[in-house]
Amino acid sequence: MSTVMELIEQQEFECVGTCAAADLAVREEVREMCAADKCHIYNTSWACPPACGDIYDLERQMHEYTHCTVVQTVMELEDEFDGETIMEAAATQFERFYKLIEDLDAAGLSAQVMTLSSGHCRVCKTCTYPDEPCRFPDERLVSMEAAGLYVAETCLKAGIPYNHGKNTIAYSSCVLYN
Ligand code: SF4
Repeated sequence: MSTVMELIEQQEFECVGTCAAADLAVREEVREMCAADKCHIYNTSWACPPACGDIYDLERQMHEYTHCTVVQTVMELEDEFDGETIMEAAATQFERFYKLIEDLDAAGLSAQVMTLSSGHCRVCKTCTYPDEPCRFPDERLVSMEAAGLYVAETCLKAGIPYNHGKNTIAYSSCVLYN
């Protein structure tokens, strides 16, 4: 049977780093940034705050695992206004991460991992929130930020850059496992 790390390596993430899950710490400030709603998706999804749950409950769940591997899609931009590549990088990260989740499921490992994505849940075209229950509660994608993690701090702990330099864009997600 494949291991979590083997399945991660089969994807084409440009950058991968690992830290101890016990080192992860949620921050109230991150949840406050979500509540400021700069992304315009606060309180619009079962996978975003406040519906995704209390950050300290999420931290307790994270600490049930041994390892946290951060996986990144990194792309070069033509210049800082290259919105097309920024959107392509976000979509690529979602596709790769969702494929990884499918592979973990196919390998019988999905119950043994916790996955935190980049950006909001895109599993359905339109989220059922708040009128109907989540269509796929086992597949919904809670982001690292929604879980209360500073992505930059988590990357640092995992030994990889958050920012790969001028005119680059990186999107990060992570998998927790034993
Ligand atoms: S799986 Fe669908 S219904 Fe559930 S949070 Fe994601 S988009 Fe919303």
